[in-house]
Amino acid sequence: MKRLILALLACVSLAAGADDFDYRLVPQAVAPDVYVFVGKTEDFDTRNGGNIVNTGFIVAPQGVVVIDTGPSLRYGRQMREAIARVTDKPVLMAINTHHHPDHVLGNQAFSDVPVGSLAEVQRGIASEGNAFAENLFRMSGDWMAGTEVVVPTRTLQAGPLELGGRRLRVLALDGHTGADLALFDENSGVLFAGDLVFNHRAPTTPHARVARWLASLDTLEAMLAGGGVKVLVPGHGPVSRDAAPIRSTRDWLAWLSGSLRQAAAEGLDMNEVLARPLPERYRALPVAPAEYRRSVGHLLPGIEVEALEAGHVH
Ligand SMILES: [Zn+2]
Repeated sequence: MKRLILALLACVSLAAGADDFDYRLVPQAVAPDVYVFVGKTEDFDTRNGGNIVNTGFIVAPQGVVVIDTGPSLRYGRQMREAIARVTDKPVLMAINTHHHPDHVLGNQAFSDVPVGSLAEVQRGIASEGNAFAENLFRMSGDWMAGTEVVVPTRTLQAGPLELGGRRLRVLALDGHTGADLALFDENSGVLFAGDLVFNHRAPTTPHARVARWLASLDTLEAMLAGGGVKVLVPGHGPVSRDAAPIRSTRDWLAWLSGSLRQAAAEGLDMNEVLARPLPERYRALPVAPAEYRRSVGHLLPGIEVEALEAGHVH
């Protein structure tokens, strides 16, 4: 009992370390006028307050374009304060790459400017945003205080996007979710890939369609091969200057779907699949065991149906 109490006290004091609720956001300059706030490669918890995501901003001649707004109102506000320490130009627009909560629940801090996204992302945030927010309140606690869902107000389409005197390009892709926007800054060669690309962190798959995702990775890798992309900003993990994070994301997805298909063909049940050890190369990958467990839950049922329909189970 005493040990339990001590363990509880240890948890309380760890959580108390975060009670100033300061995300300590420091922008990393990745190219002239382009900055990234690099989050931790962790799961949501009460210490990181959901700061597990990359967000960023571009200082255009007439104002600032924000890419993703983080997991909470507090994050969005602190992001805006950090931007104001870099430039006194006004924020012109915040863009959501996709509808997942760690990328959009800071929208409230930008509700005085247009928030842009692909059309399906607007629908996704409108229908699932509240459930996502409740989940983050559960996992991240008081960091989330006051956070409300704000649905994007501006629909973006694939193609050129001129904002504040800067030429950007919107790529409308999918596979991590039903609608994944990547944003390319023509001027600097920075590509914000959103959660189509994870770097040194296992990918999340709650809305994944793996074949589509792999096709989107091919599109992004072709862009890098074309030479115009100088900096690749993944949705999670360190910023890169080459295609390595695209390849490692593809490698994980190909392994995951291949091993689940094989398990379905062998008729293994979910517990047997969960009990399988991760391949050696993923043992040190942050959050890999947890993402593997979640991905089995997300993806195995659909793969089992496919296997049945294809007559692979005897
Ligand atoms: Zn994410």
